Amino acid sequence: MTALIEVENLTLKFRTDEGLITAVEDVSFTLEKGRVLGLVGESGSGKSVTAKALMHLNAGNAVYAPESRITLHAETGPVDVLKLRGNRELKIVRGGAISMIFQEPMASFAPAITIGKQMVEQLQLHSGMSKARAREISIEMLDRVGISDPARRFDQYAFELSGGMRQRAMIAMALSTRPQLLIADEPTTALDVTIQAQVIDLMKDLVAEFHMAIIFITHDLGVIAQTADDVAVMYLGRLIEEGPVREVIRNPRHPYTQGLLAALPKLDDLDAPLTPVAGDIPSPLERPSGCVFHTRCPKIVGDVCRTALPRDLQVDPSHRVACHLYGEGDRG
Ligand code: SF4
Repeated sequence: MTALIEVENLTLKFRTDEGLITAVEDVSFTLEKGRVLGLVGESGSGKSVTAKALMHLNAGNAVYAPESRITLHAETGPVDVLKLRGNRELKIVRGGAISMIFQEPMASFAPAITIGKQMVEQLQLHSGMSKARAREISIEMLDRVGISDPARRFDQYAFELSGGMRQRAMIAMALSTRPQLLIADEPTTALDVTIQAQVIDLMKDLVAEFHMAIIFITHDLGVIAQTADDVAVMYLGRLIEEGPVREVIRNPRHPYTQGLLAALPKLDDLDAPLTPVAGDIPSPLERPSGCVFHTRCPKIVGDVCRTALPRDLQVDPSHRVACHLYGEGDRG
């Protein structure tokens, strides 16, 4: 396996009127080519901010700690993402080697410009190809994502398409430049269950066909179980558990991951009460000391949880967790 993107010690704060607010703290992970990584957590966990950092896309008040490093292994060689400046340099991580799709496709399309014109402009920006060739590729991509009568849809506006079709058109636009990494931020949340399943299947096919990697951002571990190879669970800006999706779902170690799994509906007992993780995620202005989850943890082991940050422990060759419940003797 070859690394596509390496995130090392990513710490990101936002400058606000109330002072610096920590959004992401000391996050490290590697994404291999051809893999799907699910980034999971409640809103406020830092998953979208982490994903946007890969495209150097966070707001102007974002402050990266000096030790933060993101390396993209692009086809042209390694790129130090956080050192990129200006549109010319940033193009490689914004629509070039990396593309992003959002929960609401209307956010990706300008309302007064046809879908086709936007696709052609994006292709020409990243490849310099002729308008005629860009049109051909765009129509091919619309067809590839299952949009019927693609040549007609090409000349339509986003508001003329149904929700599911808009989602497909957005995926077609994001993939037309053949990115190495697609970041999908809650892409199926607004869709009904049938369309959701179709979009997930489509994305899985495209990963295999284009041999690209995907980061799938969601609050729903159930969606991750269907889509991802690996999962990284975030809470209040920290990565608290990571591993192959089957291993983490079968054998969750962190009490927060265990809580997220317990909150999923059980197929064999749909009447069983759902047990959400008790309490609310604290405000980033009142960041807990020690383990950031200690204010909600049902398994808190005492003062050590309130005062000391748990360090990452490898409990299995590819499964790591940050929790004081586990010590060196709990490997494997
Ligand atoms: Fe709970 Fe302590 Fe583990 Fe944090 S470190 S998750 S508070 S047991």
